[in-house]
Amino acid sequence: MKTERENRSINGVLPAQYKAMGISPEVYTFGETILAELAQRFAEIDRVAEYNQLKVLKAMQDNRVSEACLYGTTGYGYNDLGRETLEKVYASLFHAQDALVRPQITCGTHALALALMSNLRPGDELFSPVGKPYDTLEEVIGIRPARGSLKEYGVSYRQVDLLADGGFDFENIEKALNERTRLVTIQRSKGYQTRPTLSVERIGELISFIRKRKPDVICMVDNCYGEFVETVEPIEAGADMVVGSLIKNPGGGLAPVGGYIAGKKECVENAAFRLTSPGLGKEVGASLSVLPAFYQGLFLAPSVTAGALKGAVFAANIYEKLGFEVIPDGSASRHDIIQAVTFHNPEAVIAFCQGIQAAAPVDSFVTPQPWDMPGYDSPVIMAAGAFVAGSSIELSADGPVKPPYAVYFQGGLTWQHAKFGILKTLQNLVAKGLIKGIFS
Ligand SMILES: *Cc1c(COP(=O)(O)O)cnc(C)c1O
Repeated sequence: MKTERENRSINGVLPAQYKAMGISPEVYTFGETILAELAQRFAEIDRVAEYNQLKVLKAMQDNRVSEACLYGTTGYGYNDLGRETLEKVYASLFHAQDALVRPQITCGTHALALALMSNLRPGDELFSPVGKPYDTLEEVIGIRPARGSLKEYGVSYRQVDLLADGGFDFENIEKALNERTRLVTIQRSKGYQTRPTLSVERIGELISFIRKRKPDVICMVDNCYGEFVETVEPIEAGADMVVGSLIKNPGGGLAPVGGYIAGKKECVENAAFRLTSPGLGKEVGASLSVLPAFYQGLFLAPSVTAGALKGAVFAANIYEKLGFEVIPDGSASRHDIIQAVTFHNPEAVIAFCQGIQAAAPVDSFVTPQPWDMPGYDSPVIMAAGAFVAGSSIELSADGPVKPPYAVYFQGGLTWQHAKFGILKTLQNLVAKGLIKGIFS
C-alpha cells in the first residue's frame, strides 16, 4: 500500500494533472516510454545551451551592457545607447563586423528582403545553390510575380537544387556561377520543405567551394530557426552575412517584433541605408520601449532554443515510433528547431495543428482552419496560441495543405509546454481515429 506521502509525490500527481488536461493514461504512458530513451540526447542539448548561455553573457559583458542600455529613445532616435550596444552584442555573438537589430524590421522576410535589396544592384544575379528558398521569398525575388520584386528592378535569379540525397550539386553550382553572380543565398533551415537542414559545417563547405571559384561574391545565410542550435554560427564558417527574425530563436520569446542582419560592415551599412535612408543609415531609428525585451530575450534564447529542440526530438521519436515519416528522424543530429512529420493525409495535418492550438496558453479555445495566407501558394493551417502574434519560437505548428501533407512543428518557450503540446497532438489524432494500433 502506498503511503500518503508517496501518493502526493510528483509521480502520483503528474499523470492525474495530464488527465485533467485531456491526456489519457495510454498517451501519457506512451510519451514516458519514448522519453526514457532520450536522456542522453537531452543532456547533449543542455550542454550546447550551457555553452551558448556563456557566449551570450560574454558578448553582453564585453560590450558593457549597462542599465542605461535598457532605456529607449523616441523621435529620430539619435545616439540611442541601448540600440547601438545591442548591435555590438549581436556583432560579437555572430563574429560579425557589424549588425543591424531593429524593431523597424518587421519580420524575417523583411530582414531577408532588406539584405537582398540593399546589396544587389540592377544587372546583378542572385543565386541559391540549395534549391527553392522559403515560400515568402518567392515574391521578394520575383519567382512568383510581385510588385517591387528584385526581378522588377533588374536583378535576375538562378537556383540549383540539392541532389536527391540532400547533397550539394557541385557540378551544376560551378556551372551556374557567372560574371553577374553577386550574392549567394543559403537557407540553413528546411523551411516548408522536406529536405535536410544544413549544419553550419556543411554551409562552410559550400561557401568555400563557391569562394574558390568566385572570391568576390557575397554569401548570405538565412539563419531563421538555426540560432543557438549549434555552438557555431554561419559567419564562423565563412558567411558574409546572417539574417534572421527576432520572433524566432534569438528573441527568446520576449522580443515582440524585429529582425537582424549581422555581417561585413559594408553589407550591414547597405542594409541600414535601405531600411532608413541613404545618408542616415544606422544613425536613426528610435528603439521606443523594446530594448529590455530584446536584451532579456537574447539572454534567454539559448535555453528557450534548447527547450524547443527537446520538443522537436520528442515529437520525432513519438511519430517515428508510430510509423510516420519524420524529418529529421528520431536519432538525427539537429541544426534547426523545426520538426516535419509527413502524414500523407490532410485531416491529420489539421488534427495535429488543432492539437497544438488546444495546448496553448492563449486562445486555446479556438480551432484553427486552413486559409489562403498572403505569401503562400496553397492554403496553410497555422496553430499558435502565442503571447507574441505569429511568434514561432512559441509552441506552434503549420502546414501547407498540399501533398505530401506534412506538418511543420516548432518552438515551445519551455520544454514542459512543448511536451504537453505534442501529447495533445497525439491525443487529437487518436480521438479522430487517425492513429490505429496501440491506442485502439
Ligand atoms: C520564418 C522564416 C522566414 C521568414 O520569416 P517571417 O518572420 O515568417 O517573415 C524565412 N526563412 C526561413 C527559413 C524561415 O524559417
